[in-house]
Amino acid sequence: MKTDRKICRWRIRHPLMTGTEIAKRVGCNRQYVSHILAKNGLNNTQPSYRKKVIWCKTCGIPTKKNVFCSNTCRQKWYWVDVECTLCKREFKLVRSHIQQRFNRGMKNIFCSQKCYAKGQREGIVQKRRYAYFGRLDSTMGAQNPSPS
Ligand SMILES: [Zn+2]
Ligand SMILES: [Zn+2]
Repeated sequence: MKTDRKICRWRIRHPLMTGTEIAKRVGCNRQYVSHILAKNGLNNTQPSYRKKVIWCKTCGIPTKKNVFCSNTCRQKWYWVDVECTLCKREFKLVRSHIQQRFNRGMKNIFCSQKCYAKGQREGIVQKRRYAYFGRLDSTMGAQNPSPS
């Protein structure tokens, strides 16, 4: 079999193989492989999907850095806007806390002990062991991150 055809076959059968790897298999140099591949309209480089691409968990933009494209997205992911069931006050909670609550079947969020107690009186809260209070102190810090 001609080297040219071998090269094309390697490329087609092994789309993730680099030109260098093909050259080794076929027994010629890398330049020749790239020349042949280009001539036959085949790609010489590894397709991009082999490269590690991570999509930002918040906005879906591809990011190479991390699971988040930016600090803003990181914060948005970890700190979720919630509203107190009772006083409708808006504050932020850590996502994992909300998830935990949700897994336990808790529907209501209270911003404070006061609202929780009131909610209990009004029959919004059924089970005391499911009590949950938003942590306002740490919340405030996250809303106004210190400049870095
Ligand atoms: Zn993002
Ligand atoms: Zn409240």
